[in-house]
Amino acid sequence: DAFVIAVSKAKALNAFIVETPDHAVAAAKRADAARAAGEVLAPLAGVPIGMKDLFCTQGVQTTAASHILEGFVPTYESTVSGKLWDAGAGMLGKLNLDQFAMGSSNETSFFGNVISPWKRNDGGNAALAPGGSSGGSSAAIAARLCPAATGTDTGGSIRQPAAFTGISGIKPTYGRCSRWGVVAFASSLDQPGPMARDVRDCAIMLEAMAGFDPKDATSLELAVPQWEAGLSPSMAGKRVGIPKEYRVDGMPAEIEALWSQGIEWMRDAGAEIVEVSLPHTRYALPAYYIIAPAEASSNLARYDGVRYGQRELPDGANLQDMYAATRAAGFGPEVKRRILIGTYVLSAGYYDAYYTQAQKVRTLIAQDFEKAWETCDVLLTPTAPSAAFALGEVADPLAMYLNDVFTVPSSLAGLPAMSVPGGLDAAGLPLGLQIIGRPLDEQGVLNAGL
Ligand code: GLN
Repeated sequence: DAFVIAVSKAKALNAFIVETPDHAVAAAKRADAARAAGEVLAPLAGVPIGMKDLFCTQGVQTTAASHILEGFVPTYESTVSGKLWDAGAGMLGKLNLDQFAMGSSNETSFFGNVISPWKRNDGGNAALAPGGSSGGSSAAIAARLCPAATGTDTGGSIRQPAAFTGISGIKPTYGRCSRWGVVAFASSLDQPGPMARDVRDCAIMLEAMAGFDPKDATSLELAVPQWEAGLSPSMAGKRVGIPKEYRVDGMPAEIEALWSQGIEWMRDAGAEIVEVSLPHTRYALPAYYIIAPAEASSNLARYDGVRYGQRELPDGANLQDMYAATRAAGFGPEVKRRILIGTYVLSAGYYDAYYTQAQKVRTLIAQDFEKAWETCDVLLTPTAPSAAFALGEVADPLAMYLNDVFTVPSSLAGLPAMSVPGGLDAAGLPLGLQIIGRPLDEQGVLNAGL
């Protein structure tokens, strides 16, 4: 009965694109057998997790929530999913997401948006966005369909959905988790990471997911720390930086209150609070929305109707016609917008004005953080500028991009950053606090989040 209820709940939320219960059951049986034989269990033995449908999974359709990849069944396993299976986990299914991970609400999925399991308590009955792009992951965990899931974060796609659904999620330092076998969006920003109910579960998942991979040229050749064993809730002797530029104009009172509450919690845990300045913060969002589409336009050139998934071949079509028809039918509107923006900012005559400038801004933003680390150990900010909005409420793409205002700076700098639950707003909806850390200091981030 519990299984039937779970399946109907999953269907109502539209969290999964493909369900793979046999995969999870096989892992559970292996765990049972190991237990019966008295063997030492693997860290995730038998744990049924959700896999964002951006990770290639051998023999299981992988779509990036795009029509163009419908029917694509990889013959190989992504490094991160392979590591999770090695750690004993099993897969309940492939989780829905924004198409090619482009979006903040899950509404760009070809397979229909995910619905958050949360409801407002003030009579507003509209279905809410689970955040994006890892909205299938956040909704499934929040609805207790699975204890943990994978996410990927390019400009906030682990942290903002975690905040919208009252769960935890960490984007590790760029290079900690291999991108091999993860459908590419913006390669210099993309980073896999775990989403789970709490900090400890994130630490356990991250230990299984992280590690050097020779198949990813930007993978960091470092041992994986024992983050779970290193967890400590005390912030004694730690300095928590509050970046004054994140106090943006028109910040809602409930976000201000969330932030103040977070500062109080840090003080109670023994931290010293210091104000810091990240002067180039307001240029981060425009720089991100040049760099990410530029890389996307290049990465998505591979979907040509020849090598993967869907092909449109109108009568009498030549090769060019086939490319055009496949891409016109296969990509959704947001993906086309990104390809157009990216192609524009990379084209002769505009490259220097946009792309080169954005790369300079990226360096300045990274330098802002380096300066901040002289006076603090971690930074504390809100994760998103609002609680979850209703599906359909944010119709303007630019307004949607503004949702990423607090998450993109740390993405541009490649820093570890986490969202943890920070309480509820007046309508009973969850809000998230973001902790940003020094390069490779996932431990400091996790401890501050605990
Ligand atoms: N919302 C951001 C975007 O649409 C971030 C997405 C992500 O991190 N994958 O680009």
